Amino acid sequence: MSNTKLNYTNIIFLNGIPLISIAGLIYWLKSGSYNLNTIILTAVMFTFVQLSITAGYHRLFSHKAYEAHSLIKIFFLLFGAAGLQGTALKWSQDHRRHHRFIDDIDKDPYSINKGFWWAHIGWLFYEGKRTYNPEEVADLYKDKLVLFQFKYYLRIGFTVGFILPMLVACIWHDPIGGLLLGGALRLTLNYHSTFFINSLAHTLGKQNFSDSHSSRDNLITAILTFGEGYHNFHHEFPSDYRNGIHFYDFDPTKWLIYGLSKIGLTTDLKESDRDLIIKKQAIMMTKNFRNIFKTANSAREHFMIRIVTKLSGNVENQFSKLNKLKKEKVVSLSSNEQSIISKEIKKAQREFKLTYKLLGKIIGRFEQQFAR
Ligand SMILES: [Zn+2]
Ligand SMILES: [Zn+2]
Repeated sequence: MSNTKLNYTNIIFLNGIPLISIAGLIYWLKSGSYNLNTIILTAVMFTFVQLSITAGYHRLFSHKAYEAHSLIKIFFLLFGAAGLQGTALKWSQDHRRHHRFIDDIDKDPYSINKGFWWAHIGWLFYEGKRTYNPEEVADLYKDKLVLFQFKYYLRIGFTVGFILPMLVACIWHDPIGGLLLGGALRLTLNYHSTFFINSLAHTLGKQNFSDSHSSRDNLITAILTFGEGYHNFHHEFPSDYRNGIHFYDFDPTKWLIYGLSKIGLTTDLKESDRDLIIKKQAIMMTKNFRNIFKTANSAREHFMIRIVTKLSGNVENQFSKLNKLKKEKVVSLSSNEQSIISKEIKKAQREFKLTYKLLGKIIGRFEQQFAR
């Protein structure tokens, strides 16, 4: 893929909208038409559009992490278009390439290896020669709603993104405020919230699941991006409907998808194998620990490294044993055999989790001692 030709439409639009937003905000505040309803409308529009990008464009259309009722799809396609980041079809194609070729400076459209600024917004200034291959999004070509959005994308985007907030704000006689704040300012915020996923989420934070790519987990990025900041997990488990897997993780996109499943509007929510998640965490915890002590020279430090490495090896062995049992269960014939294997699986799972917890505790204790 070549990225040598400038895209002047994107350059003008992506730079012009923030300027209009700032000038518009100053004008609105000075004009005396200050109205709290317009601010609430802007916040609601921002939320609707951003969730349509994160839950819709990203986790539904790009990754198929769950299934959604047509009404939900229509909502995501209408408000996703108002995010003016391209059609669901093209957005998904770029994103699937980002996952497949992550960090490759030629094939990953927003590779962080071309710099923070490139990954954030610069790649959009050079997209002139990007080619689209229908085969990469063949599943989406079968979706009539996605194709409808593709056909009428700009008309939908400008109607929902600008005319709708303007009309709604007419109720309290502030159509200009609706246009400037609910349209332009809201769009600027939507742009950079999404762009942070490609820049900040590949720069700031910890690699809790893998260090084979640049993605990172970080609470600040999660707050700025409606939960997409647990990006290291996401790149390891892209078809999981969650990005933040713990109940305390800030992931409003996950909460929305889960909440909608309770009223039947989303189904088939995919979750990755819990044991595999634990194994990957154990490996990375150990790697990060060894990195901290890579210049170890005291006998005590060497002893600590030996214990942690041994425990981490145990986690990996217990994971292999567990997997073997799970496979045996699939091919076992009699119900008696099944119940015996089920009991063995439960026992092996208990041991596996206990070893993992022990590893975590020991690493935590050693790190505390070392810090003193
Ligand atoms: Zn990424
Ligand atoms: Zn993704």
